[in-house]
Amino acid sequence: MESTNPHIVLLASPGIGHLIPVLELARRLVSHQSFEVTVFVVTTDYASVTNTQLLQSPAAAGSDDDDGLLDIVLVPFLDVSDRVGPGVLFIEKIKATILLSLPFLRTEISNSKMESRRPTALVVDILGIDALGIADEFNMLKFVFITSNAWFLAVMLCTPEMDRKEIDEHVKNRKPLNIPGCKPLKFEDTTDVFFMDPNDSAYQRYIYDIVKMSLTDGILVNTWDELEPTNWLDKQPKESVIYVSFGSGGTLSSQQVIELAWGLELSQQRFFWVSRPPNENDAAGSFLSLGNGSDDTPDYLPDGFLARTQDRGLVVPMWAPQVEVLSHPSIGGFLTHCGWNSSMESIIEGVPMIAWPLYAEQKMNANMLTEDIGVSIRVTRVESYGVIGREEIRSMVGKILMDHQGRNIRTRIKELKKSAAKALDQGGSYNSLSQVAAICLQQHLKTKVSRG
Ligand code: UDP
Repeated sequence: MESTNPHIVLLASPGIGHLIPVLELARRLVSHQSFEVTVFVVTTDYASVTNTQLLQSPAAAGSDDDDGLLDIVLVPFLDVSDRVGPGVLFIEKIKATILLSLPFLRTEISNSKMESRRPTALVVDILGIDALGIADEFNMLKFVFITSNAWFLAVMLCTPEMDRKEIDEHVKNRKPLNIPGCKPLKFEDTTDVFFMDPNDSAYQRYIYDIVKMSLTDGILVNTWDELEPTNWLDKQPKESVIYVSFGSGGTLSSQQVIELAWGLELSQQRFFWVSRPPNENDAAGSFLSLGNGSDDTPDYLPDGFLARTQDRGLVVPMWAPQVEVLSHPSIGGFLTHCGWNSSMESIIEGVPMIAWPLYAEQKMNANMLTEDIGVSIRVTRVESYGVIGREEIRSMVGKILMDHQGRNIRTRIKELKKSAAKALDQGGSYNSLSQVAAICLQQHLKTKVSRG
């Protein structure tokens, strides 16, 4: 009888280090999910012998417990020696082999046997990214399986965004490389890729692959949470971190950014700062252009700031998933521009605020949050040259995270958090929206009647 479970296609690129985890993943999809799985194994001349031995081993075949759901297909050996010159990187040879294997893979997926169990998803390893186009052709989901760890994945994903100057500093001057959310990468531990010539086509292809990887339906990594906690926030103590963000558009002058950086550093508190390049004339400078902006190197920060604060601060360029960040137990305060969405999100998550309004109605919001609702303290002391100084920022951060004032606000906002949940569930907000819905429904029925 034909199986009704999804059929997944895995592509293992040459090399035992890829083949073993791909087979393990296949076996798990079969035994844990009862999925049908076909593994296509690409071979090169030097890898074939070992591959064949491995595939014949009971561990790979594993037919006792796979109920016939696991199919392993060897892609016929393809000689690429006339396509890649002698002395070429082995990775290039593997990628050339994968490219040559694509027609076989396409035919196999489209042939009648496959058609009766049309595959739902294609999973490739890091060297099989060139095969992802086939998933598009057959309307399949596409995933990349990283057979290494999450730290390595983070470095890879950041590489296209990194300023080459920063990589050069790392490689030539042996400076640690800062990767958002991860410990810095020491020169002694760095990856081979950074030694490649950025003008070399192999490097360009590497970058292109990473971009393609980030456009898939998902990335699987061979690790687990306790081994590599997924974000920096997980490692911080409860309510110890100040989250700093000025909404989708807020932008500071360069002098203000420097004072903010110093204020955070001097406070000696933990921080998670969504930073933007400064703009001298427009506090809403990113409002309409955020999507086009890139912030490769925060070179507008004070010299040495990132290195000095690396143990307790995280600077995330341009954008962070704010609601997720605010809901994290380690967040203890929010330095905000008081956009109303940000204010509501902070209240809903019970996070006390430091109000730093910039434009639009944000000063009104700051007034209300501070004076009426009592869930924030407000930055007020502006230096004669129009900038909020580092000392004021230091003191505000300390107050909200450490002082009794911050504790009182925390108690107040936690009460409001409960009331927000009630309003969203059955209370005022729910009822008001129901009233609007009732008016719309009435109008809809009236129009229907008058149209006959
Ligand atoms: N936001 C986000 N990540 C960021 C910055 C902003 O998710 O790095 C979201 C935030 O959660 C909020 C919205 O963008 O929902 C900003 O709206 P708000 O009214 O606070 O400020 P505005 O951007 O309109 O000034």
